[in-house]
Amino acid sequence: MYQEKNTPVLGYCRNCGQKIMGYRNADGLLKVECPFCHTRYVSQQKSRRHIVEDIYAPTGEEVISYN
Ligand SMILES: [Zn+2]
Repeated sequence: MYQEKNTPVLGYCRNCGQKIMGYRNADGLLKVECPFCHTRYVSQQKSRRHIVEDIYAPTGEEVISYN
């Protein structure tokens, strides 16, 4: 079901809105850190219709918004 090699994923930082890019690996796991505000994203694709996403604010800060 999953591709063999890493898949580039393009998106926008939920915290600062800058465009960021990461790579989803063969297991469906995507880890990316925003280079602007250093918010970290961990996204696990469980199936073709289900993605679990964790957002970590930088140490000592809070995530500004969720949308
Ligand atoms: Zn950001």
